[in-house]
Amino acid sequence: MSARDVVIIGAGYAGVMAANRLAGSNHDLRVSVINPVADFVERIRLHEVAAGSRATAAVPMGSVLAGHVDFIEDSASRIDPDDRRVHFASGREPIGYDVLLYAVGSGLVSSGAPDGAYGFGDAESAARLRAGLTRLDRGATVSIVGAGLTGVELAAEVAQKYPQLRVRLISRGLIAGGLSESGATAVRTRLTALGVEMVENTDVQQCEGSTLVCSGGITLPSDCTVWAAGFRVPRLARDSGLPTDAEARLIVDESLSCPDYPEIFGAGDAVRVPDSVGRHLRMSCASALPLGAHAADSITARLENRAPAPLSAGYMIRCISLGRKSGLIQTVTPDDRPRRFVVRGRLAGVAKEQICRMTLSWLKSELRRGGSFTWPKGPLPADVSVPVEAR
Ligand SMILES: Cc1cc2nc3c(=O)[nH]c(=O)nc-3n(C[C@H](O)[C@H](O)[C@H](O)COP(=O)(O)OP(=O)(O)OC[C@H]3O[C@@H](n4cnc5c(N)ncnc54)[C@H](O)[C@@H]3O)c2cc1C
Repeated sequence: MSARDVVIIGAGYAGVMAANRLAGSNHDLRVSVINPVADFVERIRLHEVAAGSRATAAVPMGSVLAGHVDFIEDSASRIDPDDRRVHFASGREPIGYDVLLYAVGSGLVSSGAPDGAYGFGDAESAARLRAGLTRLDRGATVSIVGAGLTGVELAAEVAQKYPQLRVRLISRGLIAGGLSESGATAVRTRLTALGVEMVENTDVQQCEGSTLVCSGGITLPSDCTVWAAGFRVPRLARDSGLPTDAEARLIVDESLSCPDYPEIFGAGDAVRVPDSVGRHLRMSCASALPLGAHAADSITARLENRAPAPLSAGYMIRCISLGRKSGLIQTVTPDDRPRRFVVRGRLAGVAKEQICRMTLSWLKSELRRGGSFTWPKGPLPADVSVPVEAR
C-alpha cells in the first residue's frame, strides 16, 4: 500500500494515540484528525465534572496532539468508502483519504432510560447533570441506574460532594459483583461510608413523575434519575454502509483493519474486534490506548508491505475512584478476571489519580517519541473466558 493522506475520525484516547504514533513514524504522511470540539476530553474524569469536584475534563488539543497533525474541528457525517472521502456535518468540502482510521468512541446511553432521566457518558451530559445537581433541595434523592464501574464512580463522587443529598445506586445484578471478594467488600464499605444506598437485582422500568417503577413491583422516590447503564456508539459506520455488529460497532479483523475495505482501520470503543483476540476487551480507555497504537502499527506495516500483526492487548488492573482521595485497584488477569490482590483506600485513590494523569503523559510522550507507548499483552486464546461488556 502506498499512502500519503491518513484521516482519523475522532480525537479521543484511540484517535490521538494513533495520530501521534503515525505522525512520529518515519513515513512521509499527512495525518488529519477530525473532531467536533477543539479540546481533548478526558472522559475518564467526567464523573468528577458531573459532581462538581472538577471544573472541566477538557484539555487543549494542542497539548496532546502532535503539532504537525492537521486538526479539523468538525463532525464527520458520512464516509464514502468507494470514493474514499469523508463528508462533514458543517457542509465543508469533503476530505479524501488513502487510509482512514475510525475512532469515534462512545457516548451516553439513552435507550431504555425513563423520560426525565439524565443520560451520562459524554461531556455534554456531564455538564447537564452538574447543573441539575446544583438545583436539588437538601434531602432530595439522586438515583443512579447502572452499577458498572462508571455508575459506582459517579455515585461515590456525588455522595461525597453533596452530603446533603440522598444518593442511591441501582443495579440489575450485584454491585461490584465483577470484582474479587475483597475488592467488592472494599467498594461496598466505601459506598456505605459515603451514605450511598445500594439497591441490587432490580430493573428500573419507568419513571412516573418522581417515582421509579422497578421490577418486582418496587417503587422508589427519585428527584433526579441518572442513567449510567453502559455506553452506546455513534452510527456513523452503519449509516455509511460499512460492516457493523448489532450495536453499530465497525467490524474489524485481528489487525484492526476492516475486512471489506483494507484501507479502513478502526480502534477504541466504536469497533468490534474478533473474539479470537478481543473477546475479553471492554469499552475503556485501558483498551482504547493500545487499540489506537496497534491500529497505527498495522497501518505502518501495510505501508512497508509487511503483514500487520494480530492485536494482543490485555489488562493488569482495574482502577476505580471512590470519591476524592479514595479508590480501589483490583488486580486482574490479562483477560480481565479479578485476582485476589487489591489496593484500597487513600493509597488506591492516589494511584488512580496518577493513572489518570499517566493517560495524558502516554499521549504526550507518543508525540515526542513515536512508538514509545507499550501495553500488557493479551491472554493466550485458550485462557479467554470473559464475555465482552462495556465499562
Ligand atoms: C465517567 C467515566 C469514567 C470512566 N473511567 C474510566 C477508567 O477509569 N478507565 C477506563 O479504562 N475507562 C474509563 N472510562 C471509559 C473511557 O472513557 C472510554 O472507554 C474511552 O474514552 C474510549 O476511548 P475512545 O478513543 O474509543 O473514544 P472517546 O474517548 O469517546 O473519543 C471519541 C472521540 O470521537 C469524537 N467523535 C464522535 N463522533 C464523531 C464524528 N462523527 N466525527 C468526528 N469525531 C467524532 C468524539 O467527540 C470524541 O472526541 C470512563 C468513562 C466515563 C464516562
